[in-house]
Amino acid sequence: MSPRSKPVRFDRVPGVDCSAPGAYRVEAFTPGHASLDVVIYACRDHADQARREWTGKLWAYVQDDVMPGKVCGDRTDFREPEPQDVEPGPQDVGELGLLEPMPYRLQVDGRVHARGTLQEVQAAVAELVTLKLAINPVSFAADAQAVNAAFNGGTVEQEVSAHGEWFTILAVDSDHPVRLKVTREA
Ligand SMILES: [Zn+2]
Repeated sequence: MSPRSKPVRFDRVPGVDCSAPGAYRVEAFTPGHASLDVVIYACRDHADQARREWTGKLWAYVQDDVMPGKVCGDRTDFREPEPQDVEPGPQDVGELGLLEPMPYRLQVDGRVHARGTLQEVQAAVAELVTLKLAINPVSFAADAQAVNAAFNGGTVEQEVSAHGEWFTILAVDSDHPVRLKVTREA
């Protein structure tokens, strides 16, 4: 990724016409990278839409703490102004390992949840964690970051390669822990 030398931009999500107080902070990341790209504030009614639509193809995590004075649709953009970040370029394809030959498999609480490249499995995990975060931010917030770091830092790939699987439990102290296991298809 290029260095983040451009100034942070404060603007609005295009097409959003809502002035309700921001109740949620949606943090969005480029898939495969740990750097925060965009923060969007959303009211209660728009939190889900903000996560799904306003962040485009970025990975989005919903946090329920906000900065005073922010209203729904306010955006803080840390990205380079151009080129467009939503479509991976040829360079990113190699970087993201999309040519991974052997598919990975994600099991959630013992059931197969997703199959594909490591990046596709990571995306499935991110989606799951985002859902859980929206329901129970206290129990899942730290785990969400740890899981993201495990994928981005190569831990998952190394564990699967060395031991045949990577295993973790999210929200282990809560009433509803979630067991994640990544393996490789035989
Ligand atoms: Zn709103």
